[in-house]
Amino acid sequence: MPEGFKSSVMGADLVIVNGRLVTVDEKGTVAEAVAVKDGKIVAVGTTKQVKELANGGTKVIDLEGRLMLPGFIDTHEHCIRRGLQLDWVNCKSPPMRSLGDVTEALREKAETKQEGEWVVGSWFDESQWEDERFPNRHDLDKASTMHPIYLGRAGGHNSVANSLALELAGITKDTLQPPGGNIERDENGEPTGRLDEIAAMDMVRGLIPKPSGFKEIELLVENWPTLEEQYLSWGLTTIHEAHIKAPEAHAYQILNEEGKLRIRMGLMLDGMTPYNGYATSDLSRQGLRPPFRWSDRLFVVGVKVGTDGAMGSLTAALHEDYSNDPGNKGIIRCTKEELTDEIVRCHVAGIRTCTHAIGDRAIDMTLDALEEAINSKPWPDHRHRIEHAGYVLPRQLERMAKLKINVSASIGFCYPIGDSHIAALGKDRLCGYYPMKSFRDHGVVAAGNSDGFGESYALTGIYGCVTRKSRSGNYLCKDEAVPVMDAIKVYTWNAAYLEGSEDLKGSIEPGKHADFVVLDRDITTVDPKEIIETEVLMTIVGGDVVYERSP
Ligand SMILES: [Zn+2]
Repeated sequence: MPEGFKSSVMGADLVIVNGRLVTVDEKGTVAEAVAVKDGKIVAVGTTKQVKELANGGTKVIDLEGRLMLPGFIDTHEHCIRRGLQLDWVNCKSPPMRSLGDVTEALREKAETKQEGEWVVGSWFDESQWEDERFPNRHDLDKASTMHPIYLGRAGGHNSVANSLALELAGITKDTLQPPGGNIERDENGEPTGRLDEIAAMDMVRGLIPKPSGFKEIELLVENWPTLEEQYLSWGLTTIHEAHIKAPEAHAYQILNEEGKLRIRMGLMLDGMTPYNGYATSDLSRQGLRPPFRWSDRLFVVGVKVGTDGAMGSLTAALHEDYSNDPGNKGIIRCTKEELTDEIVRCHVAGIRTCTHAIGDRAIDMTLDALEEAINSKPWPDHRHRIEHAGYVLPRQLERMAKLKINVSASIGFCYPIGDSHIAALGKDRLCGYYPMKSFRDHGVVAAGNSDGFGESYALTGIYGCVTRKSRSGNYLCKDEAVPVMDAIKVYTWNAAYLEGSEDLKGSIEPGKHADFVVLDRDITTVDPKEIIETEVLMTIVGGDVVYERSP
């Protein structure tokens, strides 16, 4: 039991007793009970000790021996914009098993719309289909030729448009390639419908009518509780929103002001490279640096910068060719100068950068930029981070450690889409795939994320850390597996460290936010294969029960 138990705080608002509390504190303490007052933890100890802090007005939760952990933190997701996508056809696999399933779903949606109205689908992933073929305009024309159709791939780096959508966008044989993007062409030079990276995708996507002005913000606010409910049901108590623009920032501030944020949100602001945002220049010009905190529910974690594409769509920038696409080494979305300029400017202004870099080539470019920034001005506790770091070389681990770069690792990909990554990297490179053990052993603080893939994000990621197994049971380098306690840390303490609030969250200790998750089984002792089936029974944020599984 913890030493120095203080019983001076009387009249706790909440006591949680008779549990197995894996606190994730430095000593690895396991406690039975916790007392909460004003949203903060005031005592951790035995059931007997903690019960003494209760009075007539105290709420008591009896865990009946169940496991309770610090609330889970996902350090990279794109949340609120999904509120505008409720009319979109969700083409996630499962349930979509083939291209036919997807075109059928798009056809059904088109039938509900007037001619000329847009049909938008999202989250398709051909690597999960029986046919495993990237769709083209002709496939989508089967769904409709009277409606423009835009179908986005999971990961957000590729899409397909049907013939009418291409026509509306004026994309023909003669269209020049947009810088940083790719319009795929067939052997006759005709566009196939496939569009890679934002520059190409936006040529079509930009035509889809969007609610404008305040209507958009209203919709985001209105639809937020539906999205949030799912995150809470997965035991997430904090999420880092990995890139926001003005309407989303507005919506979050309204939700915060109206007391409607149940989950804690850390925002990454819209950087210039390669997103054409303006956060960096505005903030640095005005000398404002994160974390800005509107409240304990809404704050800024840094500025989002980007280097390459994504691995599953073969656009992450590698030094060597993709195993399943000889000749292709992926895409870099900005110049080395632009990236360095952006990161140096942020660093000098005291702004933490969160730089998207997945492939080893992108990581080199990012580390070069970070090193130049770090050498330009002393800032020992900068906590700059790399988002993803999907394929890392041993020499890069050493550089990350030396430069004190933290990683928001997408180990949450391992189970849901690991199979497509095995195909992309080939067997020989898998030990550099989100190398959680090597991060740990090199002293690189790595937190976990989902980036929207899979379900029950934190548990899916913990399963990935512990088993290194994909959905179909293939290993992504067993040697990089870590014990379950390290995996839990990836989604709690390490994640808190990445946002610079390890004094406020990430473990169950007095003085920290009362953010907890109660699970239906003890993942620290069960057979690891059960972790993926584990369910969240209760989620608590700031001492409030915000989710409870119905019995
Ligand atoms: Zn992302």
